[in-house]
Amino acid sequence: MNEYEALAHWHQLLEQALAGCGRTSGSARLIPASKTVPPERLREYINAGQRVFGENRIQEAKAKIAVLPSHLEWHFIGGLQRNKVREAVSLFEYIHSVDSLALLQEIDKRAAAVGKIQKVLIEVNVAGESSKHGCPAGEAPGLVVAGNGLSHVAVCGLMTVAPFLEDLEKVRPFFRMLVELRDKLQDEHGVLLPELSMGMTHDWKVAVEEGSTMIRIGTGLFGMRGEISH
Ligand SMILES: *Cc1c(COP(=O)(O)O)cnc(C)c1O
Repeated sequence: MNEYEALAHWHQLLEQALAGCGRTSGSARLIPASKTVPPERLREYINAGQRVFGENRIQEAKAKIAVLPSHLEWHFIGGLQRNKVREAVSLFEYIHSVDSLALLQEIDKRAAAVGKIQKVLIEVNVAGESSKHGCPAGEAPGLVVAGNGLSHVAVCGLMTVAPFLEDLEKVRPFFRMLVELRDKLQDEHGVLLPELSMGMTHDWKVAVEEGSTMIRIGTGLFGMRGEISH
């Protein structure tokens, strides 16, 4: 499959999955997780019509963004350190991985300095895995409310990385937890959280069935990742 066919294939899979669970066409989008994929290769996907990409590392993303066309939309999906927030705000349309008040405040400060309203998602560690980023589910309401009080941050939704379990039916409850948390936040705090960033190559279909609006696909689109190159 060439890049054009690979993209068409994924868009078709996503549309079929949306139709299969009675969701509107276009109500979830594909965010190619392009970490370790060199810009020359991304250019092929761009030529095939892809505009949005998700990156995990600031330095790597910065190098790619510098050499690729300016009409693209970049999402930050990796762990974010406070000392990288200024660069993240200058590079990314969405930051999916906000999991602390300190990060929210730093993003607000840096976004205010450049006159931007930074779109963010609150990353929730739904399974409480110690190896994962994300705030505990119990801290999400406080972060969403705090984020809403900041003038240069727009909290658009929630994000999670589910545990890797072979049996997808065992993964489903974790996506459901994120959706229930979102619904509860909307009901109890009068906030709007339309975006749910959940689902990767292994579990995207279940995530779409549960309401994902952004699936982050790496290996399924680009193949197995090699060593990270800098
Ligand atoms: C790498 C990555 C993905 C994509 O993972 P695949 O299993 O390769 O599809 C999705 N989300 C995050 C946060 C990632 O780091």
